[in-house]
Amino acid sequence: MATATAQSRVLVVEDEETLLFTLAHNLKREGYAVITATRGDDALRLAREVQPDLIVLDLMLPGVDGMQVCRLLRRDMQVPIIMLTALGGEGDRVRGLDIGADDYIAKPFGMRELLARIRALLRRTTAGGAAPPAATLSSGDLALDPARREVRRAGKFIRLKPKEYDLLQFFVQHPARVFSREQILDEVWGLDFYGGPRTVDVHVRWLRQKIEDDPAAPERLRTIRGSGYLFEG
Ligand code: CA
Repeated sequence: MATATAQSRVLVVEDEETLLFTLAHNLKREGYAVITATRGDDALRLAREVQPDLIVLDLMLPGVDGMQVCRLLRRDMQVPIIMLTALGGEGDRVRGLDIGADDYIAKPFGMRELLARIRALLRRTTAGGAAPPAATLSSGDLALDPARREVRRAGKFIRLKPKEYDLLQFFVQHPARVFSREQILDEVWGLDFYGGPRTVDVHVRWLRQKIEDDPAAPERLRTIRGSGYLFEG
C-alpha cells in the first residue's frame, strides 16, 4: 500500500502541457516519483502498469475523459484520486466524488494547496501514517482496525475508500447520536474541505452498500429526516 515517503508514486494526468510540466516539476521537488500522461487511455494503461500510490486526474481530457477514467479505475483499483477541474461547480464536484474520486480541486489552484491535499490523502491511506488509535473498534458484526484502517464484517474483509473508512470509524465511535451533515463534514472532512453536505450523502450511500443487509432500507446507518444521520451501532 502507499507510503507517504519520498518514494510514493504519483500519476499525473493532464493534457495542458504547461500545467503538466509544472505539476510534475513540483511533485518531483517534493520527492515523489512522478509518472505523467496527457490522455485518458494512456492514464488507464499506466495506472495498471505502474500501480501508483495516488493519481492527480484532470477532468477534461482527450480520448477518455477524467470522469470515465475515474469510473473505470474504480472497478478494480482503490488508489486515491484527486480530480482537477476548470468547472468547479458544486454539481461537478459531487459527480466527481460520486464516481469515486477522493478529493476535488478547482482550477486555478495553488500548488501548495494541491501538495497539502496529496500529503493528506497519502497519510490517510497509509497504515503507518499519523498516530492512529491502537485498539480494535467493534460494533455488531463490524470490526475496525484503526492502525491498519481495515474493516471486517462478520469476519470478512470489506474494502472501503479512505473517506468511507473515516466516516465509518466516526460513526462507530459515536453511536446512537444524531449528527447533522455539517457536523459530519466538520468532524470527518475537516473545516478546510469546501464540498457541500451532498458529499456526506454520497459517502453514506456507499457505506450502506457495504455495511447494510439491505442498503435501500438501512437499519444500521439511519437517515433522521430533517436532522442528519444516526448510527445505531
Ligand atoms: Ca484538460
